[in-house]
Amino acid sequence: VTRSSHSIDWAGPAREAARHLSCLVRLDTTNPPGNETAAARYVAGVLEAEGIGAQVLEPAPGRGSVIARVAGTGNKPAVLLLSHLDVVPATAAEWSADPFSGETRDGAVWGRGSLDCKGLTALWLTLIIHARRTGARFPRDLILAATADEEAGGSWGVRWLVENHFDLIDAPFCLNEGGGMTIQLNNRTYMTYQNSEKSVCWLKLQARGPAGHASIPIDENAVVLLAEAIAALGRTPLPVHLTETARGYIMGMAAAQPEPIRSGLGALLDERTAAEAVAALPIEPFYRNVLSAMLRNTASPTILRAGDKTNVIPSTASAEVDCRILPGQTPDSLRGEIAAILERALGPKGVARLEIEFPRSSLPTESPAQTEMTADIKAAVARHCPEAHLIPLMATGATDARYLRPKGMTVYGFWPLPPGVDVRGVHGVDERLPIPALEFGLKVLWDVLTAS
Ligand SMILES: [Zn+2]
Repeated sequence: VTRSSHSIDWAGPAREAARHLSCLVRLDTTNPPGNETAAARYVAGVLEAEGIGAQVLEPAPGRGSVIARVAGTGNKPAVLLLSHLDVVPATAAEWSADPFSGETRDGAVWGRGSLDCKGLTALWLTLIIHARRTGARFPRDLILAATADEEAGGSWGVRWLVENHFDLIDAPFCLNEGGGMTIQLNNRTYMTYQNSEKSVCWLKLQARGPAGHASIPIDENAVVLLAEAIAALGRTPLPVHLTETARGYIMGMAAAQPEPIRSGLGALLDERTAAEAVAALPIEPFYRNVLSAMLRNTASPTILRAGDKTNVIPSTASAEVDCRILPGQTPDSLRGEIAAILERALGPKGVARLEIEFPRSSLPTESPAQTEMTADIKAAVARHCPEAHLIPLMATGATDARYLRPKGMTVYGFWPLPPGVDVRGVHGVDERLPIPALEFGLKVLWDVLTAS
């Protein structure tokens, strides 16, 4: 029999989670090189001390992941509790604390990885230990996986596990990083769960033209052609495609807003009016850009290369463009949209002097926005953060979920953080996780996992 979170005093478990988080932060798993094995062994050691079996798998020296399984009653489908052990680099000189000290200051655990994603590892670990000690049985089998290499593409972590040991992590559901934070819009609070991720499709453009002395300008200057192509891509919004997630997000947002924002958001739900409606929304420009990116494939020019002498017209000029694809769209459909813009801007003659290449692409992923798991999430959020409206979220970047969704797993990014937690430290400076946020996460996730 499991107890609801209300009958448990979470202060002790929250302190314990904070201690595990400090220990994990102190194990420097900056990727590259990673060295996640030490952290994987730490997690395995803590579990084994509680009588819970765990295995560390190491596909390459130092690149370990840890997996453990705890049987439930079987009343509900199993869930994979995923997190990653590697972190991005930190420049100590920019921080106000040592990024690998794991020190507690002002009620928060400081350090690289505290928000991305060792705090979540500490939560899963503490939940499983607490269930063991109290004799609680969950309705679901719980599989804990804390993995290597998320920050550099997952080749030594989830991707490797999917390709080599999928049976160890396979479950109908997975809870992961990438959602659960709260958003404020016009004084309304929303809590997110991430059920879809855009994917990357990098674009390389190379313009060609005759080289020559810059004292005699020519019409076919490669630099000018490239500039025209880039300006067209950067200034022309791609067509709107409404996904299930964008609909759920926008409808959830709108429902809690007063007029005129409510109708303004409502107008986004029609593909014919969405482009103008998003431009006219009376909200912060940053947030308008977020909404716009959720409605369409995108293309952001990022790198330009041309010439090395002021008095020489170069024969080539090149650019790189970071494109992102919506769920339901493909690299091919994006290529068609890009080609149409370039044709219109440059004409057939210009396009003939432009090489277009897509050196890297992957497929976007989306899990259903409404399932029995999201119903459990909704109930737990209503209990612990009644002011928050729960909405599905599409991430513009990708997590390891991209390897699991194509295998048929329903993955939700859901690490619940209470309103007010500053997440700017993710991949930034002074990353830290307040201990009350750990306590909040324990309560919400306990209720999600024990819901019968
Ligand atoms: Zn992460």
